[in-house]
This record gives sequence, C-alpha cells and structure tokens, in this order.
Amino acid sequence: MNTEEFGFETQAIRTQLERTQYLEHSVPLYLSSSFVFEDAEDMRASFTEEKERNIYSRFSNPNTTEFVDKICKMEGAEAGYAFATGMAAVYSTFAALLNAGDHIVSASSVFGSTHALFMTYFPKWNIETSYFDINKPETIESFIKPNTKILYAESPTNPGVDVIDMQLLGDIAKKHNLILIIDNCFATPYIQQPIKFGAHLVVHSATKLIDGQGRVLGGVTVGSEDLIRQIYLFSRNTGPALSPFNAWVLSKSLETLAVRVEKHCENALKVAEFLEAHPNVNSIKYPFLKSHPQYEIAKKQMKLGGNIIAFEIKGGIEAGRKFLNNIKLCSLSANIGDTRTIVTHPASTTHSKLSEQDQLAVGITQGLVRVSVGLETVEDVIADLKQALA
Ligand SMILES: *Cc1c(COP(=O)(O)O)cnc(C)c1O
Repeated sequence: MNTEEFGFETQAIRTQLERTQYLEHSVPLYLSSSFVFEDAEDMRASFTEEKERNIYSRFSNPNTTEFVDKICKMEGAEAGYAFATGMAAVYSTFAALLNAGDHIVSASSVFGSTHALFMTYFPKWNIETSYFDINKPETIESFIKPNTKILYAESPTNPGVDVIDMQLLGDIAKKHNLILIIDNCFATPYIQQPIKFGAHLVVHSATKLIDGQGRVLGGVTVGSEDLIRQIYLFSRNTGPALSPFNAWVLSKSLETLAVRVEKHCENALKVAEFLEAHPNVNSIKYPFLKSHPQYEIAKKQMKLGGNIIAFEIKGGIEAGRKFLNNIKLCSLSANIGDTRTIVTHPASTTHSKLSEQDQLAVGITQGLVRVSVGLETVEDVIADLKQALA
C-alpha cells in the first residue's frame, strides 16, 4: 500500500511508531530522558548523525517524533520539531532563522505574545518588524526592504477573526525571496494547509484545537527540510522541547482532530447565525458568514469557518463586562479551542494593558467579544448567550 496516498484521517490515525515486543495497539508513553548505545562505534555514529536514532529527549523522543510525523503528514510538510508551548515554537522559529539587522513584515493583527516578541524583545537584537494592515493587502509589498527576511501572518486572526489571502502572501514571498511563516492555530490542518499556498513554515499552538480538551500545552513548527534543520539545531541547543507525556497526549488528540473540528465548526456556524440576527449585536465576524469582509477568500482557502467568532456588543465596554457577568454555562477563560465554549472580552482582559488607540490598531473595539465555540449541545450554548445578551 502507498501510505502517502492515504486520506487525512487515515494519516492522523495510522501514522504511528512501530510496535514493541508487547504488540500494543495504542502507542505507549516513553518517559525516558536518554537512550543507550550498543558500543563505542554505535555512540560515535549516532552523534555524527550517520544513524538516525534517539539520543536524548531534548533532541528527540519516540513520542515527540510520532506527534511531529503525524502533523507533517496532515500539513503536507517535509519535517518538523515539537515545542513545549506555541510561543516556544514561534520564538524558536524566528530566533533560529534571523540575524541581527534582519527585518520582518507581519500582519498587524497577531497573537499578543507574538506582538510582544516583535515590539519588545526582537528590537534588543536589532531585528525590526513592520506591520501591514490586513484590510489593505495591496500595501504589503511597500513594507519590504532589502533586509526583509520573513513574511508572517495568522489566518484567521486573533481576536479579530480576519482572514488573510494566503495565496497572495505565497506569491509575494516567492517574488521577493522571503520565508513565509503562517500561524495555523485557529484553522488547524483540517481546515487549511498553508504550505499549499506557498508557506515555507507553519507554526501551531497545539494547546488549542490540536489538544482540544484543555489539558496540555504544546507547540510545533513544520515545513521544508532545510529550514527545519536550522530550527532543530537551534532548539536542540536551547532546550524548548515538548515533553514526551504532552507529545503522547497530543498525538492521540490528532486522531480525533477531523471529527472534533467538523463539529466545532458546525456549532460555530449556528451560534454565528444566532448572533447575527440578535438586536443587541452591532456586528459580527465569522469567516463563513456572507457578511464577513473576506468571505470570498475564506471560502477559497478554508474547508470550514473555524470555531472562533468575534462580535461587537451594543453599549461598549460596560455592556461587554455585563455580558460576561451574566454568562452561566460558558466559561470565562483565557484559552480557545476547548470542548467547553469560552467567552472573552479582550478590551477589559487580555488587551487591557494597551491604550484604546493601540487596541483599535489591532482590531479590538470596546464592545468586542470573542467566543470559542465548544462541543456542547449547541442549543444550550445559544440559550446561554441569549439570556446573557438580554
Ligand atoms: C495561543 C496562541 C499562541 C501561543 O500558544 P501557547 O501554547 O499558549 O504558547 C500562538 N499563536 C496563536 C494564534 C495562539 O492562539
């Protein structure tokens, strides 16, 4: 059988480590910090990488290898490396590839800690970032300079749920010889595979929909062999490795990713349709609603609309706070992509340290509410939102 031709779900379920002498059906957990060598020659050949094998779990471990192999198949990538968190993946990917004096062009709406890397930490090493406005993709090229090395975006974005044309980014990266990196956390490889549009690397917070059950932190970067090699060597020396236990959990999670994401999206579309029709909702953004400004692009590059909805409640910051206080079933939590529906009000919580003007610059208005739709009975979720909006 040609395993390369297997479908997405089969790859997610049947990509696994070889069985041990115990013939276990489900892959066991390998909690071991190091691995032994047969003799001096075996040890020498392993360290010079003539042999591909596990040496020490900071470099590789059977469970992290299985997790990475699966996600590579699902994203259509050549290679990857797994990290302790999504931010370890984002940070290590940039740090491995950039030199002092390099420049990044990024979409203006990025995850809060990624924004902090660009604005607070990378400038310490003379690495500057220019933001392009996601609503003005025609301006992207004007930000590219001779020292620009990386083009970066998330799609859909957090927390605004905007959609960025990945084919356009792929074309621009190719034309200007840039490394295109996409944070695919909100969509997962089930919904979109950025490598098909020209991305060289895809990063994930596996903490979100990949785990999907709010249990463990994790991250992963996948992409072309040569770039992953640089990221691997950097990470093997700096130590952001994913723990074998978390890798084991996440590898099992991937087996159910397709069915979970399918249901998340089915529920999210119903919740979005309910919110769109509600009189106390000013505006709403969900990629698969016709009212979404980038609906056509979303339909072109996404299989489903995802599970995140952003909406603007009438009455600004006070109405947003009151809405959260009235929520009964859903959770007020800082996570997304959990089985449990989560509601947040970025202006008074995650982004409260930014001025109102800076909040607006990253797409956060005072009444913006973000919902990560879970897997509960969708009528119960809608009923809770309905009573809180009243
Ligand atoms: C959560 C998140 C991250 C960071 O992931 P952690 O696992 O929390 O470190 C990065 N990017 C996006 C889009 C996220 O939502």
